[in-house]
Amino acid sequence: MKRAPPLDWEVVLDRLSAFYGRGDWRVPYLRDHAEDPFQVLIGTILSQRTRDENTDRASAKLFAKYPDAAGLARATPKAIEALIRETGFYRTKARHIRACAQQVLERFHGVVPPDLDTLLTLPGVGPKTANCVLVFGYGIPGVPVDTHVHRISNRIGAVRTKTPEETEAQLRERLPREYWIPINPLLVQHGQNLCRPNGPLCERCPIADICPTGVARTLGRPTPRPEDRVARGASAARQGRRRPPSARRPTRGARSSPRKSSASAP
Ligand code: SF4
Repeated sequence: MKRAPPLDWEVVLDRLSAFYGRGDWRVPYLRDHAEDPFQVLIGTILSQRTRDENTDRASAKLFAKYPDAAGLARATPKAIEALIRETGFYRTKARHIRACAQQVLERFHGVVPPDLDTLLTLPGVGPKTANCVLVFGYGIPGVPVDTHVHRISNRIGAVRTKTPEETEAQLRERLPREYWIPINPLLVQHGQNLCRPNGPLCERCPIADICPTGVARTLGRPTPRPEDRVARGASAARQGRRRPPSARRPTRGARSSPRKSSASAP
């Protein structure tokens, strides 16, 4: 069987940037998106296993009161819990972010370390959080892999993996460093809009012609991930076939599933 040509990341990033109106991905990310590394660190811990809107609200409340490591290290667990309750798992998160603040203060004089291995020694910090601090706090190339980046990287054939950790390892190996910083924000935005976990909207996707999943779904062929295959009923509907009334789903009041957080992994 003829092998598909290697994925052209330049084309992927160009098209997604244009589609979502994000400007030129080649411009250094922090020129337009400068963020405080400590707040990136704490905000990313808060974002674990919750929706983005919960993270945004809790972060705003928390940083209004405790904007830096010195303030947060002195806060009581109860005071922190009250501010971040809506993010879920708030007792564990409060314990982690307070311990993080204390360690940043005591071990690193209040400055978040700009180094992956050192970041991974902090409480509650996993690969995704550590890479987020590098990319969004310091503009240092890293590969933050959340559920969106993991899922889409597999759909577009950039990797073939089962976990975000495996995806990070393969992307680090295969992806030129110049693409490391822009892929996360673009793939997350794509995952929140068209390339959703269930039922990607390939027919509206700007990279459908170079995405193996998009091409396969259009042609009714097996997709790289079995779960992305078009359901038989949906396939029939797309081809204009009518399904028996008993097989049709009610549409009144139907809602699309709520957006999942882009940040479920630590
Ligand atoms: S074509 Fe479909 S599966 Fe591929 S990136 Fe676009 S929305 Fe996702």
